[in-house]
Amino acid sequence: MEYDFLVIGSGPGGYVAAIRAAQLGLSTAVVEKNERFGGTCLNIGCIPSKALLDSSELYARLRASGEAGGQDLESHGIVVGKLDLNLKTMMVRKQKVVERLTSGVGQLFKGNGVQTFNGVGRLVATGKVEVTGTEGKRQTLEARNIVLATGSVPADLPIFPTGKDGFLTSTEALSLKRVPARMVVIGAGAIGLELGSVWARLGAEVTVIELLDQILPGMDSEISRRARSILAKQGLEIVTGVRVLGYEKAGKSASEKSTTGKASKSATGRTGGVILTAEDKDGNKQRLPADAVLVAVGRRPYTEGLGLAELGVKIQEGSGRVVVDEQYQTSLAGVYAIGDLIPGPMLAHKAEEEGIAVAEILAGMPGEVNYDTIPSVVYTWPEVASVGKSEEQLKQEGVAYNKGSFPFRANGRALSMASEDGLVKILADRSSDRVLGVHIVGPWASDLIAEAVTVMEFGGSAEDIARTVHAHPTLSEALREAALAVDGRAIHVLGRKKD
Ligand SMILES: Cc1cc2nc3c(=O)[nH]c(=O)nc-3n(C[C@H](O)[C@H](O)[C@H](O)COP(=O)(O)OP(=O)(O)OC[C@H]3O[C@@H](n4cnc5c(N)ncnc54)[C@H](O)[C@@H]3O)c2cc1C
Repeated sequence: MEYDFLVIGSGPGGYVAAIRAAQLGLSTAVVEKNERFGGTCLNIGCIPSKALLDSSELYARLRASGEAGGQDLESHGIVVGKLDLNLKTMMVRKQKVVERLTSGVGQLFKGNGVQTFNGVGRLVATGKVEVTGTEGKRQTLEARNIVLATGSVPADLPIFPTGKDGFLTSTEALSLKRVPARMVVIGAGAIGLELGSVWARLGAEVTVIELLDQILPGMDSEISRRARSILAKQGLEIVTGVRVLGYEKAGKSASEKSTTGKASKSATGRTGGVILTAEDKDGNKQRLPADAVLVAVGRRPYTEGLGLAELGVKIQEGSGRVVVDEQYQTSLAGVYAIGDLIPGPMLAHKAEEEGIAVAEILAGMPGEVNYDTIPSVVYTWPEVASVGKSEEQLKQEGVAYNKGSFPFRANGRALSMASEDGLVKILADRSSDRVLGVHIVGPWASDLIAEAVTVMEFGGSAEDIARTVHAHPTLSEALREAALAVDGRAIHVLGRKKD
């Protein structure tokens, strides 16, 4: 049979594309090489990392309640007895969440009549995909349209090995069997900060090293600075503007000092500890002992064995991303690509939207994605979320803007949650008041940003947010107050604009 729509890869891009195509009446099949559906996001990305972030956050809150400066649970009237960590149980829970969601994708495929094939897919000709199953059995599937959704894998640093001497990718860092005494995270992007937070909360001494001058490169710098200071208060040691140069295996007698001068607990003699060497901009060398080193320097598109070069499918030099036109068609007619494989932010919701768009386009509808309103979120606590332009971008583009900020410490709900660190910042066009960017560091920023995305999607203004009724007491009132502050009239802070 010839399918209308054949997808290689069942991550958020591929599985959503397949379901949407099936909903639209296209005969649809998915080829997936892993035994579980759901791709990076559900198996070794978004979902397990959030499960661990939630578990470790609970643990850290309880642990901190007994520490000076920690969240005082006793003031809530909660007295905590002896606290213990069972990492194995935490990992089992994480895996249960993963399994529930990945098997849910299988059920959605069945329910929507999507055919599935377990094996490695390879393009062999226009309209033809060869699938090699786990036992080496091959079959060729035919389709009018083929969608490549094979995602990405962790980028490595050639100076470091992967999988030995304690060097980890995000995949291994999601499944450690013990809490390392000392962990170094290379890269202060979302993945590095999230997984660094997990292990710091569970008791590791964590140092995050970033080559650039700010954490979360590309993020609005005021928000990035605020996030950095909050994370530092939580005990994450962060060094920016530092390049890692190499490593040596730690000798048994090594009594190393970290960059802050704190003695390493036990970087050596446990699981093959290492000493990393790093250098700042002035050439000052540093030595950082570590039992585990998480290399979180980004991800690269995964095209191995897909047969793209043989068929002349164009790939961007340098980035390795597959080149597509506005309809997601590659340079080979009838072959499309979406998700982490193509240019744009490597995010699950971006991949999903492209999946829906390509299915709709191929069903004859006007599918499209608004790339100006893709939110990005970092699930530390507090969370960091943003959509649209940063102040730096607006300045660079010469766009005149007004800015309104509101701190969570003046928000009743945040105070009652004892989560008052952070702020909301809204950037609006100076002449039209249209919202151009919203940046949040604070409690549940991941959910709060949705309102900003909706307003921006509708081309709304700061005044629209300011005049929208927000329930009280909610965190969302901070967004409204920031919108009022764009015009200098926030209610719950001093500093009213004089007319
Ligand atoms: C630790 C971590 C945390 C993350 N957290 C978030 C988050 O909170 N929010 C967010 O938006 N994003 C997050 N991401 C990024 C997100 O996981 C990716 O952007 C998303 O999974 C990309 O979806 P995709 O469909 O393009 O590809 P993938 O999810 O990578 O799926 C690709 C699929 O294709 C399969 N495949 C590959 N080659 C073949 C082949 N030849 N034949 C058959 N099958 C093949 C793979 O097995 C895989 O199942 C995170 C990533 C990581 C690593």
